[in-house]
Amino acid sequence: MKQQIVLLGATGSVGQSTLSILRDHPDRYSLFMASGHKNVEQMLALVTEFKPQHLVVTEAQAYKSLQQRWPASSQTQLHFGEQALLDLVAMAEVDAVVAAIVGAAGLLPTLAAAKAGKKIILANKESLVIAGELLMAEARRNHALLLPIDSEHNALFQCLPQGKVDLSVSSLLLTASGGPFREHSLEQLVQVTPAQACKHPNWSMGQKISVDSATLMNKGLELIEACWLFDVNADQVEVVVHPQSIIHSMVRYVDGSVLAQLGSPDMRIPIAHALAWPERIASGAQPLDFHQLASLTFEPPDLERFPCLVLAREAQHLAGLAPVYLNAANEEAVAAFLNGQLAFMDIAGVNAKVLAQVGVEPLESVSQLQHEDQRARAIAHQHIQRLAL
Ligand code: NDP
Ligand code: MG
Repeated sequence: MKQQIVLLGATGSVGQSTLSILRDHPDRYSLFMASGHKNVEQMLALVTEFKPQHLVVTEAQAYKSLQQRWPASSQTQLHFGEQALLDLVAMAEVDAVVAAIVGAAGLLPTLAAAKAGKKIILANKESLVIAGELLMAEARRNHALLLPIDSEHNALFQCLPQGKVDLSVSSLLLTASGGPFREHSLEQLVQVTPAQACKHPNWSMGQKISVDSATLMNKGLELIEACWLFDVNADQVEVVVHPQSIIHSMVRYVDGSVLAQLGSPDMRIPIAHALAWPERIASGAQPLDFHQLASLTFEPPDLERFPCLVLAREAQHLAGLAPVYLNAANEEAVAAFLNGQLAFMDIAGVNAKVLAQVGVEPLESVSQLQHEDQRARAIAHQHIQRLAL
């Protein structure tokens, strides 16, 4: 029996890598539903190639344009809006949901998949950052299986034979490439452009995560993500810069052993791992050639030049709504940087200012989270306007 797959964020970088695996394994997987936001060309292309039963579009202009261009012969049903996503994710025939929408917009569909007890293949780290407690509780309550495909967390999962952290583990070691500006001075960092920030040395990714990698906020978000996925506190997560991106993360055990997962920097590896787990299938990625690997190097992260990592640790210690504030500020600041409104180093500045304004109340519900998320975005906009270029 083929597995019926829902692919949220099919038009993005992780979405396209997932489609590459589905293309290579038509005997195992069938695309039940795909979603996209603005990218009309990619949506038309995937409908033609993969013939999903449903396509959901979440952006009004793109929906209009798809309606006009919809092929008369298409068997795929076209839907508009978030509610359609939530309804289709929960349908009985769905076996697995790949959550690859970017940002907080991914939260509700991921929660819907958890409520419906689905196998969730999670790329959308922001949903765990802002709602880790709610999402993990929902997954536990409904026996939803949560398999991470963020490469670091997938590596950690592979290095934990029991799939979880117990007393034999002394820490989790997240590796970071250091991004394109690893060797930039503070003066140079002030000058960097969006095009430079989006050009990651090892990985090809969407714009938002590429900027997050350049500020090291990505590693900060991943630290919080690791805390929820593996039920550890922030002090049990180390970050080590490893510029070659060959070791994707490691687990340190009390006896002194360290287990690492290695592979080419290609998202098809963690995606194939999670889709097929506990089996393994070919991913199409280049095998590692150890004769070509000149060296693997390691260094500590520079917290002065990359303060976002410090902010993320602080947010996780503060708990409650702090990660919601940090994530909302970061999404707005990164968008402003990409639009040419904000300087690169001001991303961290806006994040710090918004985080400083978080209240002390605990996170209790999705509606409270959404309200506070909007408030944090409004505060971020005030700071962005003051700092605007
Ligand atoms: P992309 O920007 O390439 O793709 C994002 C996807 O989300 C697209 O399908 C986009 O649609 C859709 N989208 C954007 N905004 C909305 C919205 N408001 N509502 C619904 N859908 C929306 O991102 P990536 O693929 O790089 O990243 C996706 C997620 O995976 C992120 O959370 C990222 O942190 C995580 N991740 C990514 C990795 C990578 O290698 N790229 C590695 C590890 C984690 P459209 O394009 O049609 O507008
Ligand atoms: Mg990652």
